[in-house]
Amino acid sequence: MTRNVYFDHNATTPLDPVVREAMLPWLGIPANASSRHQFGRSARHALEQAREQVAAAVSAHPSQVVFTGSGTEADNFAIRGICSTLKPGHLAVSAIEHPAVMKPAQALLQRGWKLTKIAVEKTGKVGIRNLEEALQQPAALVSIMLANNETGVVQDIPALSGIARRHGAIMHTDAVQALGKMPLDFNAFGVQAMSLSGHKIGGPQGTGALVLDKRLDIQPLLYGGGQEKGRRSGTENIAAIVGFGMACELLMHRPKVEIELRDELEVGLRALGAAIFGAEAQRVPNTSFFAIPGIDGETLVMALDRAGYAVASGSACSSDSSDPSPVLLAMGISPELAQGAVRVSLGSGNTAQEIQGFLQALRGELSRMQTMSALAV
Ligand code: PLP
Repeated sequence: MTRNVYFDHNATTPLDPVVREAMLPWLGIPANASSRHQFGRSARHALEQAREQVAAAVSAHPSQVVFTGSGTEADNFAIRGICSTLKPGHLAVSAIEHPAVMKPAQALLQRGWKLTKIAVEKTGKVGIRNLEEALQQPAALVSIMLANNETGVVQDIPALSGIARRHGAIMHTDAVQALGKMPLDFNAFGVQAMSLSGHKIGGPQGTGALVLDKRLDIQPLLYGGGQEKGRRSGTENIAAIVGFGMACELLMHRPKVEIELRDELEVGLRALGAAIFGAEAQRVPNTSFFAIPGIDGETLVMALDRAGYAVASGSACSSDSSDPSPVLLAMGISPELAQGAVRVSLGSGNTAQEIQGFLQALRGELSRMQTMSALAV
C-alpha cells in the first residue's frame, strides 16, 4: 500500500522531529516547576524559556503568556474568564467562530448574557459595517477569529479591534489557525486577548496559550495551587510546554507553505467545476475549501482517503456532525453546495507532485461517482 498523503494540517500537524528531541529529556525526569530543589528549578527555567519563545512568536512580553491545556481551553478562558469579571451584559462573536468560542459564548446566555452573532460578508470577511451594526447595542466583549479554520479567510483584526475599542468593548481574537501561517503581532492587532495552540504548528497536542494585555482583568477557569500566577492552576506539563515553545521558535526558521502550491491546486479544482469558498478574500496560504456541485463532501473525502489522500469534509473539530458547515451558511452558501464541502490544508512538506497526484485521483473518483449515479437512474 502506498503511503497516504497528508493534506489536513488545519486539523493537526505532525510533531516536528526537532520538537520531539527537545521534549524527550523532560519525559524522563520528575519536573515540577513549583519545587524548590534542583529538578524543580531546571523545570522552571525550561518553562520560562518556552514562555519567551511563545511570546516572541506574537511579539508580546513573556509575562503576558498564560499556558493552557489546549487552544480550546485558551478560548474558554478568554470568553468565560473575561465575562466572569463583569456584570451580565452583551457580548458579540462572529458567526464563523470555532465551537471553542461559540459554545462558551452561548453558555453565557444561561447566566443572563445577551449574545449577538456578528454577520459576515459573502467573502467570509467580517465587514466594518457588520461589526458597527452588532455594536449598536454596546457590548462588553467582542471575539473575532484571525484566520478561519475552514476557509482560511483572514480578518482585518487591527481595523475591527479599533472599532471594538471605540465602542468600549474588550477584544479577543482566536489566532489558533493563524499562528505559523502569517506574521502575528499582539500589540499591532490592538486586542486584549489572543488564543494560540501548539499542535497546529508542529508542536504537541494538548498545549495552548492565552496571551493577555497586562491591564486586563480575567478570572481563572481552574483554581488550585496557583500556577501561572494564579491564572491557571495545575502542575505545568513541562515536556509539552517545552515542545510548544520549540515549535514557536522553529516558525522563524522553517519554510512556509508556498502559496503557488495552493494556486496550482485551485487551477485544477476550478477546471473540474469546483466552487472555492473565500477565494475573493485574503486567506492563509495553505487552505483551500471547495465543493463540486452535485457531489457529497463526506463521500468524496472517504473516496479520496481510499485513493491515498487525507483531506477533511469541513471542520475536524465538529466532524461527528454531518450538517452543512455553519461557516458556509453564514457566508450565504446554499445548504446543498455546503454539503459538498471538502477542505485541503497543506503543510510545508507537501509537494507539487502530490498536488498533481491528488488532482488525478480526484478526477478518477469524480468520473467513477458520475458513472455510478448514471447507472442508478
Ligand atoms: N480555534 C480554532 C480556530 C481551531 O481551528 C481549533 C482547532 O481546530 C481550536 C480553536 C481548538 O484548538 P485545540 O485543538 O488546541 O483545542
